[in-house]
Amino acid sequence: MKRSTRGCGCAIAVLVLLLGAGGFGFWKYGLPWLRSRPPKPSGELQVHVLDVGPIEGDSILIVSPTGKSVLIDAGDAGKGKVVLDALKRYKVERLDYFIATHPHPDHIGGADEVLNGIKVANVIDNGVDLSTPAPESAAPKGKGKAKAAATPQPAKKSKIKTVTTFYDEYAAALRQSGAQYIKAEPGKKYDLGGGAILTVLGPTEPFFTKDQMKSGGNDTNANSIVLRLDYGDFSMLFMGDAESQTEERLLGKKDLDLTAKVVKIAHHGSKYATSENLMKRVQPEAAIISDGGWNRYGHPAQSVLDRLKAANAKVWRTDLQGEVTITTKGKGDSGKLYEIKTAKETKEDLWVGREAMKDDSSRSGFIAYGDFGPPPKVKPPRESAKKK
Ligand SMILES: [Zn+2]
Repeated sequence: MKRSTRGCGCAIAVLVLLLGAGGFGFWKYGLPWLRSRPPKPSGELQVHVLDVGPIEGDSILIVSPTGKSVLIDAGDAGKGKVVLDALKRYKVERLDYFIATHPHPDHIGGADEVLNGIKVANVIDNGVDLSTPAPESAAPKGKGKAKAAATPQPAKKSKIKTVTTFYDEYAAALRQSGAQYIKAEPGKKYDLGGGAILTVLGPTEPFFTKDQMKSGGNDTNANSIVLRLDYGDFSMLFMGDAESQTEERLLGKKDLDLTAKVVKIAHHGSKYATSENLMKRVQPEAAIISDGGWNRYGHPAQSVLDRLKAANAKVWRTDLQGEVTITTKGKGDSGKLYEIKTAKETKEDLWVGREAMKDDSSRSGFIAYGDFGPPPKVKPPRESAKKK
């Protein structure tokens, strides 16, 4: 009896030791391994490509399965309210991230209103500073460019907003917002919860400079933040206003996973992006074009639509269909992997592009809407629709 009790005690001690060792092993090796694994998709991920027309702009809201929210761009100046209304509609009370892809007015014009109108935890941009240079004390006559001296700026001209004044407003709102500032870093991943991961793909340094741009290209666009969103089997690319050179740089990284189910097409469907080579690598099923019915730049270009058709992608356009919403549960076992809905139905042909009011191939800077003439008073008939 005594012996058996002692034997039992030994067995318990061994068991306790084994359990202890097992527990330690799990804590030391098992837990880190579990944590390193991508979380399984849970719940619904939403991507809302907002309608910030009728001129042009980008603003895209991502709501993760756990409710984390990301706003990519804030539309043009005066569109902040449209964006804030959309946030309200989707019950977003606080933005975890606001990402400014590049400092052009049609992307950051509404940012000050958004930053003033809702709590934003983090602001990510590409670090390009387009703020207005400090004014030089009255330029002495005879110095500087003769052309500038011969054509003094009329006083009322100072009221016209420029790319730099829009940037100043964004930067001031960012400072006042108390949001944490983060410079975009390629390769950096943001865990949006529930298994959704947002990855920064670009811009990579050295940044493109103005003199490196091909005709019609724009360095600020070329240095846009490019993002990738993954959730289970779903994936989406956000190309900002990337130029073909941005695409070439991405394509040059052979190990970079660029395949995606859905792509937010670069630069509102500009002919200077969405190359055939990029589409071959991405193999998108769905292409979303954020553009405006009144744009005069010829967005989307017929050539881009043709390239998308050749790549077997379906097309959605905010100029004709309003807000475009993509929802996914990250897996397609019970049917479709993702669903795309639009705010409006259209009878117009999604595969017919628009034509530019002017040939901009010799321009390389930011082309303001006004550079193409005054805005129309009524919605103009679609130029390209009249052509075959
Ligand atoms: Zn743009």
